[in-house]
Amino acid sequence: MMLSDTNAPGTIDGSRIMNLNKLKEYTDELTLHASRCKGSIILKGETRFGLASILTWQCSKCPHKIALETSPKVKGPSKYSRWECNLAAVWGQMTTGGGHSHLEESMGVFGIPVMTKAAFISTERAIGEWWKEKLMESMLEAGREKKRLAEESGSFHEGVPAIAVIVDGGWSKRSHKHSYNANSGVGIIVGKATGKLLHLGVRNKFCSACAQGIPQDRHHCYKNWSALSSEMETDIILEGFLQAERVHGVRYTTMIGDGDSSVYPSLIQNVPGWGHCIQKLECANHSCKYYRGALEKLVLENPAYKGTGGLTEKMRRRLVSSARCAIKMRSKEVDRKVAVRQLKKDLLNGPNHCFGNHEHCSPDFCSTAKDRLPSTSAITSASTHSIEPNPIDGGSRESSWDECTGAGKLER
Ligand SMILES: [Zn+2]
Ligand SMILES: [Zn+2]
Ligand SMILES: [Zn+2]
Repeated sequence: MMLSDTNAPGTIDGSRIMNLNKLKEYTDELTLHASRCKGSIILKGETRFGLASILTWQCSKCPHKIALETSPKVKGPSKYSRWECNLAAVWGQMTTGGGHSHLEESMGVFGIPVMTKAAFISTERAIGEWWKEKLMESMLEAGREKKRLAEESGSFHEGVPAIAVIVDGGWSKRSHKHSYNANSGVGIIVGKATGKLLHLGVRNKFCSACAQGIPQDRHHCYKNWSALSSEMETDIILEGFLQAERVHGVRYTTMIGDGDSSVYPSLIQNVPGWGHCIQKLECANHSCKYYRGALEKLVLENPAYKGTGGLTEKMRRRLVSSARCAIKMRSKEVDRKVAVRQLKKDLLNGPNHCFGNHEHCSPDFCSTAKDRLPSTSAITSASTHSIEPNPIDGGSRESSWDECTGAGKLER
């Protein structure tokens, strides 16, 4: 909406963001007055509030004034109302990783003036508080859901509902050609049955205001960590476990996590009362990721392995898929000792199957091996090993090695 060629004072120019409902509302008022009074409605001034403005219009025939607001106000994160367009602009920058200067630059191209940096930071903080509040609400709701599910299934530890959780965390370890530990780390605890967030933590070693020498009592300080970066994840997960009973009324007695993590020993040692009862399950995702990583390393160090009939990219994917498929299948086995034995055999035999040697394949998921069985036992085998949704992945799309590794269509 260009204002420079109206009767406006020279200070009003460029463009503004105009809410269409507001425009409709004021057009009625402006035209109604103009038609009654037979005067022209002239733009007299503007008061800006970041991206929002109050435009003052004056009738040329009478003292009547109309103040037009370009944006609605919303009851935002705090008790104060905020202009919707300002909240939206800052929100947009927060979700795309931008900041005040990004907003200023992109809006500058349109000739749209923006809020000051201080107003941007204040809005950013208010939205942050809002997000935190909503996040807390949704985490408490997820906790209630998990507690109810544990109670319904009769899963208790010393009378307290006991649940299984997935834990993960991370921090950026190194950048290109550099090796350094990051200044920020994040950790999460997610309910296994619901897939919903139960705990989230962030640790920061760096605060830009502190770095500029601004005293801690004169800024909102983000620094909350001074120990090793590698210990951030453990600290956050431990914090979540320590709060489990008080916040959600449950105990996290089963933990599914990264095989490399130092989290588990810390939980056993530091969660008072029930820490020693926490059972750890390896995360299938991480295990497969490590397998793929090892294969990539192998071909990187030995490029000759890569050729046709060897460890091609497709073959590396197939090998990992065969391992994942075996994990899914064996996780249904009730007898854990049998499951471990079978899984070990399947994992070792995976490469044979992928390269077309089905001599040692299990008829449970290799069609070539199944075809070798007498017809009655083939039926028995198939019917007693039907696939159910996987407790870790929530579902199994591939029901056999042939499907997940594509061995039936092997082009070698
Ligand atoms: Zn008038
Ligand atoms: Zn600080
Ligand atoms: Zn096979």
